[in-house]
Amino acid sequence: MTQASILQKKHLLIAGPCSAETENQVLETAQRLKNTGRVDVLRAGIWKPRTRPGAFEGIGAKGLPWLQKAKQLTGLPLAVEVAKSSHVELCLEFGIDVLWIGARTTVNPFAVQEIADALKGTDIPVLLKNPINPDLSLWLGGMERLQNAGLTQLGAIHRGFSFTGEKIYRNRPQWQIAIDFKTAMPDIPIINDPSHICGKRNLLQRVAQKAMDLNFDGLMIESHITPDEAWSDAAQQITPKEYALLIESLVIRENDPANLTEKSQLDRFRKEIDLIDEEILHILASRMKVVRSIGQYKKENNMTILQSNRWQEILQKYIERGVQNGLSEEFITRLIKNIHDESIEQQDKVMSEDVN
Ligand code: PEP
Ligand code: MN
Repeated sequence: MTQASILQKKHLLIAGPCSAETENQVLETAQRLKNTGRVDVLRAGIWKPRTRPGAFEGIGAKGLPWLQKAKQLTGLPLAVEVAKSSHVELCLEFGIDVLWIGARTTVNPFAVQEIADALKGTDIPVLLKNPINPDLSLWLGGMERLQNAGLTQLGAIHRGFSFTGEKIYRNRPQWQIAIDFKTAMPDIPIINDPSHICGKRNLLQRVAQKAMDLNFDGLMIESHITPDEAWSDAAQQITPKEYALLIESLVIRENDPANLTEKSQLDRFRKEIDLIDEEILHILASRMKVVRSIGQYKKENNMTILQSNRWQEILQKYIERGVQNGLSEEFITRLIKNIHDESIEQQDKVMSEDVN
């Protein structure tokens, strides 16, 4: 695949370790991924933006010759994350084929502009991840900065959005924002990164399938020869073999874009509702996780499950809020009672565990 045609491929598959760690790890991973026959581009992080100092911050420029060797060995084009102009210069010097801008960089217009300026005069493919915060404008703005620098081979990566609270996903997908991105920039391909959305490997398949069902243009998935020993993002990485199985398991529904634009308004509303329902499910599941911790606490402290005063207060508060938001008192009462009922069930289960 020539550099110029990489982003034109439908269902572009990018795979590789979160980070390049050692020469052997890079070469072994590259070879095994190549052998799956299911990889178009090999990824590896060289400079790692980490939330807290002290964690592994990437091997640095020393890893670039390893990537060159991996390319010689497999013929796979290479993708590396860049966060500043010095990264861009080194990547260009070492013949990296695709650059991506990470979520922590997209939030900062100065940083994106610095990268765009460093890229002026080249036309290397660049993928822009969504910012960590759910702000569509920031994502679009970053893309515009790259376009204004004269770059034409551009793509987006949806990697989810950070949030606080009980977590099932590491980053909440908020699919609607990715769909809004597609609507605003229909000519820019958008691929999905289930690894950073999920944070754990057992959730990857479902998210990858969902991305395919929403007509994404490809996937970026982290893969490592010994994932549990990875120096970064261990819990979400999968072996090349597991990667191949995951890709083979995906059902690709042919979606003719011509039909998509003709889809009726009703279909679009339905899709929107599906996404909202998915969010509701996710939120309910997060709630029940907290509920189980409360159950554990009450069990350890010998408290009853039902605290009547608190329950009355909650019910009243939500009826008022619901009515203010256009929901009927009857509906909100039924809904909250149902949720409360299930919470009691869940706590009851926790309470009765290990009791003889
Ligand atoms: C990565 O791809 O390894 C990475 C750091 O991702 P993100 O920018 O999505 O956190
Ligand atoms: Mn990672």
